[in-house]
Amino acid sequence: MNWESVEKRKLSWSEFWEMESNRLSVIIRATYDVLPSPINLQLWFGKDPACPLCTVPTKLKHILVGCGTSLTQGRYTWRHNQVLRCLAEKVERKRKSINAQPFTNQEERQFSSAFVREGDKPRISPSTPDLVPLKVAMDWQMQVNLDNGLIFPTEIVTTTLRPDLVLWSNTQKLAYVIELTVPWEEAIEEAIEEAFERKKLRYANLAAEAEDRGWKIKVRPVEVGCRGFATSTTAKLLREIGIRGQAQRQAIRELVNTAERTSHWLWLKRADITWAAKAVS
Ligand SMILES: [Zn+2]
Repeated sequence: MNWESVEKRKLSWSEFWEMESNRLSVIIRATYDVLPSPINLQLWFGKDPACPLCTVPTKLKHILVGCGTSLTQGRYTWRHNQVLRCLAEKVERKRKSINAQPFTNQEERQFSSAFVREGDKPRISPSTPDLVPLKVAMDWQMQVNLDNGLIFPTEIVTTTLRPDLVLWSNTQKLAYVIELTVPWEEAIEEAIEEAFERKKLRYANLAAEAEDRGWKIKVRPVEVGCRGFATSTTAKLLREIGIRGQAQRQAIRELVNTAERTSHWLWLKRADITWAAKAVS
């Protein structure tokens, strides 16, 4: 669908509605912010620019990430949790395979740690290209803040904080705290920086307390754009967990598809005052 030709044709609402069954055109138009959001409709046709849910003047960004009513109704949480579920499935599969790894990998771990000369840093680090940081342990456990909620593992620290995902090893006293955001893409650089600082701050006391008890806490903010664009934080996290190559590309594809598909659902429901969370296949 070529937007310029659409504009010239002056489509009606019902015609727009039919167009929306074409997901590809939604992606393209969402990218350029030319979806028929109320403000755009006013510009083109003189329609009322108020958000149907909260009456604030609106554009696509408002509908997808900025509407207070959508927020309190849980629409954005629903989308966030759909993406989180997808991420958690990937991490869980990797966790199981690492815990079940053959003995040779243990030897590799011992080999790696045996060659640390005095004053040198250990050879296993996230920057070492071929080693998976998670392979330092075989007792990884995972909790994700979805259906049954999450209680932070008390062996690490007692807290009321509820991160999206915690991955931890009791033998290594090492924990990854993962926080997912599904932001508007243009704001993504700021979002990454802000989120990083905010989330580090949020977990600073927890990390300090855990470190007193001999634990190392790695806080990992991760962003998947709400219109279905991947970010470097996603690739970096997957890589660190050991999801690489073809598996990483597949995981990123599924994550961005989930974000795009759920945003599309929020778009379709933009004028429905009531909201009921729904699984989107
Ligand atoms: Zn609104």
